[in-house]
Amino acid sequence: MPSEEQFDAIVVGAGPGGVSAAVTMARAGLSVVLFERGDRPGVKNVMGGVMYGRMLADIIPEFWKTAPLERTVVDERLWLTTPETVVTAGHKHVPHAGTPPNAFTVLRVPFDGWFAAQAEAAGVLLISGTTVEDVLREDGRIVGVRTGREEGDLRANVVVIADGANSFLVQKAGLGRPLEPNEMALVVKEIIALPAETIEERFTLEPGTGATIEVYGAVTRGMAGYGFIYTNRESLSVGIGALISQFMETRITPWDLLEGFKTHPMVAPLLRGGTVREYLAHAIPEGGFRSMPRLFDDGVMVVGDAAMMVNNLHREGSNLAMAAGRMAGEAAIQAKRAGDWSARTLSHYRELLEASFVLQDLRKYERLPELVERRADLLQVYPELLSEAIHEMLTIDGVGKREKQRKILRRLLDRRPWWRLMRDAVEAWRAMG
Ligand SMILES: Cc1cc2nc3c(=O)[nH]c(=O)nc-3n(C[C@H](O)[C@H](O)[C@H](O)COP(=O)(O)OP(=O)(O)OC[C@H]3O[C@@H](n4cnc5c(N)ncnc54)[C@H](O)[C@@H]3O)c2cc1C
Repeated sequence: MPSEEQFDAIVVGAGPGGVSAAVTMARAGLSVVLFERGDRPGVKNVMGGVMYGRMLADIIPEFWKTAPLERTVVDERLWLTTPETVVTAGHKHVPHAGTPPNAFTVLRVPFDGWFAAQAEAAGVLLISGTTVEDVLREDGRIVGVRTGREEGDLRANVVVIADGANSFLVQKAGLGRPLEPNEMALVVKEIIALPAETIEERFTLEPGTGATIEVYGAVTRGMAGYGFIYTNRESLSVGIGALISQFMETRITPWDLLEGFKTHPMVAPLLRGGTVREYLAHAIPEGGFRSMPRLFDDGVMVVGDAAMMVNNLHREGSNLAMAAGRMAGEAAIQAKRAGDWSARTLSHYRELLEASFVLQDLRKYERLPELVERRADLLQVYPELLSEAIHEMLTIDGVGKREKQRKILRRLLDRRPWWRLMRDAVEAWRAMG
């Protein structure tokens, strides 16, 4: 790798954010190098596995014809658990033919491999098995990267940092600080193999369609977090996580949490007979809008998890990364045209983000991370109260319904006096409204 060679852009990280940026720039004729530390894209990556069609179609139109998708999600369920019960809500629809699927499940190794191949086809030079260790500076601006290879310095007009959660390059570039344990969740996940027919029977699915279950309440044992079960073609992605600060406080190990989740009486029958194929762990940035680093500077932009672009309430991260990657690419195209790679021109990236759902949604929920951490009890108490109330109304024991309503109200007020109910509602509204 000759160190004197100059590219238009260096992208660090071949995840959804980095590849989206690389494809966008290469298609406009920019010379782009994409570094990935894994031996091939995807091998270092973990996610629950739900991706969203609209943002991917903005980059690869008609992606669904070639991408290695697992199942099209048609059934999204929410479970509120107590140790022995579950209150369920959800939405199911028939798959729409011809349009990009709204949501679909993926496994990251095949998906990331396919996505990176689209970048290569667009002219991106993908260099796998290479870790970027630092950024290069000249006269205060970033002018390239230092890799772990011999003679591994490479120069470019702009560096797009897309190295994922807990990005140390963001710190090296002087754009952000180290994250605190309450700004990061740790999630552990297993891929559990089951025959396709068994999955379709257990989740009442037509062949090729999929379901997701988000699980809150008792399964996180008082910590702020949630579990999930997503259907793949011939496996389930089963995981659970919580804030790292709360793992430290409670001393519950991630492994114990996952084992407890898998043995919950409503979860276990869905997994029965399955074989664990993979065990994975990864961080999710949870700090939200208020913990975001600076998003650009002279010769540099940050996208995706590295920039804290995760909307946990809605299980969205990959789509924010793709949208932000595309917008960073568009800002770079404008900088190339102007022949100016300074922060002044690259600020177009921030303008695009501000005008999009990415920063609008993150700003909408900017108070949520603080509430989730401080009031993890909300996710325990209310599922219990709801479950007890429904159980009471569904138990046919000769007691009149009016008397049952009074009983439910008494129980509620014993546990949560009026003023606390009001306070909880106001706090939740302020964080999510
Ligand atoms: C368990 C779990 C479940 C999730 N579930 C969902 C979900 O269902 N739906 C959803 O939308 N989002 C989900 N997310 C979030 C989603 O995975 C991320 O938001 C998304 O992957 C972010 O994309 P990215 O490109 O920013 O980062 P990443 O996907 O993390 O990619 C970063 C890439 O950079 C590479 N890299 C890192 N450092 C270097 C370096 N120094 N040099 C070279 N390469 C480097 C990594 O190997 C990796 O390939 C989940 C996350 C986790 C952990």
